Amino acid sequence: MLGIVMKKLGKLFRVILRASRVCYHRISALCYPFAPDIIFPLPQNSWTHGDCFGKDCVFDGVSWGEHMGTDFLTFPRTHVHAIGRGYVVYADIHFGIKEIRGEDGTLIQGLRRNWGGIVIVAHKNPRTGKVFFSLYGHLVDLQVSKGDRVEQGEILGVVAEAVTEDNGMWGEAHLHFGIFVGPWMGRVLPGYWSGPTDSRTRLEWWCNPLIFLENYGDSGKEKTLSP
Ligand SMILES: [Zn+2]
Repeated sequence: MLGIVMKKLGKLFRVILRASRVCYHRISALCYPFAPDIIFPLPQNSWTHGDCFGKDCVFDGVSWGEHMGTDFLTFPRTHVHAIGRGYVVYADIHFGIKEIRGEDGTLIQGLRRNWGGIVIVAHKNPRTGKVFFSLYGHLVDLQVSKGDRVEQGEILGVVAEAVTEDNGMWGEAHLHFGIFVGPWMGRVLPGYWSGPTDSRTRLEWWCNPLIFLENYGDSGKEKTLSP
């Protein structure tokens, strides 16, 4: 009997906690600055396409789900710019962990890929009033902190070298760039969506970043995304 009551109380507590979090972040969103225009996060001619948005990704025989961003392969230490005026809601490092084997080849610690340096910036579209978030993953030397206001083009950090803890132990130096339009809960966002049972995020909370960039603004003309 006591067990059931405790379970129900726990559930109620979680619901209240979630509701208060949503409420807090909705109120915070009123202060997000308007981004009249947005630009591409990397310098022109500095990148080539990597894994695209929505791609089903498998690494080391394990399915990670659909890619909720687009990867741009580029040289290490390429500057990553804020796409528009905004407010930094997340800036942290989630180190990757390298594989360690003993002298006899036995696995001591398995490889764990992660974000490395990640920055998430909140923006508001002045034409629709809608809030959206730009996400930049696999950076090093972060230049901004949570709570900073950033202007369009401001440097957020640089692309980390491949197979380092800062790039999250991925095989190539690249920027993972995402556009999130879901509710902000103050927690780091995932790079993949593993299906309807994925409790971390929902598919409809993500946009194809290249299409989002092309359609932003009121001029109606497409931006040229070089190269
Ligand atoms: Zn990616």
